[in-house]
Amino acid sequence: MDITQILHSYAEEGFSYNPVSVPIYETSIFSFKNFEEFQNSLLNEFEAHLYSRGKNPTAEVVEKKLAALEKAEDAKLFASGIAAVSAATMAFLKSGDHVVCVKDAYGWTSKLFSQYLKRFDVQVTFVEGIDPEDFIKNTKPNTKLFFLESPTTFTFRLQDLVQVANFARQNNIKTVIDNTWATPVFQNPIELGIDLVVHSASKYIGGHSDVVAGVVIGKKEDIRHIFNTEFMNIGATIGPFEAWLLLRGLRTIHVRMQGHMENTLKVIEYLQTVPEVEEIFYPFYSKHPQYELAKKQMKGGSGLLSIKLNVKSLENVITFTNTLKIFRRAVSWGGYESLVMPYAATNRDGLTEKNKMIRLHIGLENPDLLINDLQNAFQAMKKVKL
Ligand SMILES: *Cc1c(COP(=O)(O)O)cnc(C)c1O
Repeated sequence: MDITQILHSYAEEGFSYNPVSVPIYETSIFSFKNFEEFQNSLLNEFEAHLYSRGKNPTAEVVEKKLAALEKAEDAKLFASGIAAVSAATMAFLKSGDHVVCVKDAYGWTSKLFSQYLKRFDVQVTFVEGIDPEDFIKNTKPNTKLFFLESPTTFTFRLQDLVQVANFARQNNIKTVIDNTWATPVFQNPIELGIDLVVHSASKYIGGHSDVVAGVVIGKKEDIRHIFNTEFMNIGATIGPFEAWLLLRGLRTIHVRMQGHMENTLKVIEYLQTVPEVEEIFYPFYSKHPQYELAKKQMKGGSGLLSIKLNVKSLENVITFTNTLKIFRRAVSWGGYESLVMPYAATNRDGLTEKNKMIRLHIGLENPDLLINDLQNAFQAMKKVKL
């Protein structure tokens, strides 16, 4: 199916009055004609419209579209991206199991494995993941799950999805990938052999910085298992209105992603010429060490990149951040707007190497305005008296 068919009409049939925009089913419960229908629903909550903690028609439209976009059988929306990450992993783990997870995964994902799951006696090994051997070498008899995020947060390291997935399949290890950065428009890990894809839909899927949501996508059998365990027990269900906001955002994801990529490549062309930029971290930057792999497993890159500043003082980082006018100082990313996030704002450690890193989200503004904003910030930064 063509992507625009998935985004614009697929899974939208069957609503009364043939509305063009999908209705928001703002209801917690559904009623039944008789005992028999009621009983059938209670005994198969995964498939039934019984209670909106489990299934809601507005959310279902989005779930079907996201499954189709990722070329998978099924999907389940969650109240947040981290709820999706936690459910997709915990549903396949028990006490005594071991996980191999990439270093520099999203912060709360790292904490899930390094702290939270420790309480339940799940062990973890963190690996760089650039070389598939990182996963292979660290596999133990009790390894049950590989957690991937390609590219990784802030550092933009890639994993070779085909090779890691092949090894995992042969060894009965579940693979879960966080595909938030690339979006289903640019990367489809399930086609490459990965079992489960998670997204923070708060980013590009919503696309307008107005909703927090997540999704798990995979085989129907796996989604059913997650539904019957972590999904229903922890209950991080999305509301019908939030699901509808995702649907509204999704309508344009294909054009938005194209715009983010074009603008980002233009901004990188400029950043390359700035002496104060020591390094640019972006998989589709031709000097990225894994550029070839990026082109092999992704169709394009989104609007998020990092740079490392060549500076002598934290004051430089602070002035750079404070001078920006169009780039707003905020966490998260994936909306239409440009944002800046200095790593140094996450700690009080002074000017460490990592604190020279700045994350930029390149939005859909005119790229000339963005470049001008950056030029001003670099100039102000250079003038700081040390
Ligand atoms: C934001 C983010 C998450 C967490 O998603 P929430 O919707 O904020 O819970 C997970 N993974 C990545 C890569 C993210 O950027």
